[in-house]
Amino acid sequence: MTTRGLIDAHVHLAALPTESNGCWISPRMLKTPVARMVAWSLDLPLDDAQTANRRYLERLETEFAASESVEKAVLLAMDGVYDAQGRLDKDRTDFLISNDTLLETVASRPQFLAGVSINPFRRDALDELERCAERGAKLVKVLPNAQMFDPGDGRLLRFYRRLGELKLPLLSHIGYEFSLIGQDQSVGDPDRLIGALEEGATVIAAHGCSQGLFFVEKHFKTMLQMVRRYKNFYSDLSALTLPNRVGALIRISRRPELFERLVFGTDYPLPCFSYPAILGGGFQESRRATNRFDRQLRVFQSLGVKPQADLGALLAQ
Ligand SMILES: [Zn+2]
Repeated sequence: MTTRGLIDAHVHLAALPTESNGCWISPRMLKTPVARMVAWSLDLPLDDAQTANRRYLERLETEFAASESVEKAVLLAMDGVYDAQGRLDKDRTDFLISNDTLLETVASRPQFLAGVSINPFRRDALDELERCAERGAKLVKVLPNAQMFDPGDGRLLRFYRRLGELKLPLLSHIGYEFSLIGQDQSVGDPDRLIGALEEGATVIAAHGCSQGLFFVEKHFKTMLQMVRRYKNFYSDLSALTLPNRVGALIRISRRPELFERLVFGTDYPLPCFSYPAILGGGFQESRRATNRFDRQLRVFQSLGVKPQADLGALLAQ
């Protein structure tokens, strides 16, 4: 399989808040296992934002540069929760990476592309969309479970139509989100994205439409149907080596008709594990990868999963 020009659709920018970066992380979020694992694995001092933020980027750049196969990556911002008036609700927001921080970060790093994040229920959602598009955004990422909105809400059709006009794909998280407690998790169902598809937006449903609940893959049938019905529907392969999502990867490996709608992704800084490659005999090869970008790809190759959609052509030009 040729991998030249491969783009990772799903790499997270992370940053602790400083006086000027517009980012935010809640004390609750800092205590979650995911935050602790990332801080520990990348040696980030959580009491020193400047150092932690600089180090996060250095680690990412170094690991990404080591990849033999992946040339570019879409770096993702993360918008917050908004109240009924469309104002940022910081108390209910666990994690916010501002679009300005993201756009500044990618401006000097040609290997990274701007995946801005806009909660479509913010008051200035359409203005922010125009502003980000003018500044070179390549796609818009949403995480409805964490941002607490329903992507199937009929009030969002205008926003989706504009995404389609601007040729900005919507990358939406699918399935359970483990850093949340007691929120409405059904907003992560892929069929909530039908409105966006009907309005002409390109939709990339994240994580191979997996539910994230250990082999209970209730969205798989929906994904097959949506691929058949909508030419503008895609899915990324991020996070699919994680034990709670690997069931979807195995199902996908048996359905080559999906490959032309799949784009490559890791979900960095989450881990990429080699063990699924045992099934395809490529475990050692995957384990030898010096970075998670190559490791993720080798696992897919071992299982015969080919992300064949041309992500470069889908992203806003
Ligand atoms: Zn992610």
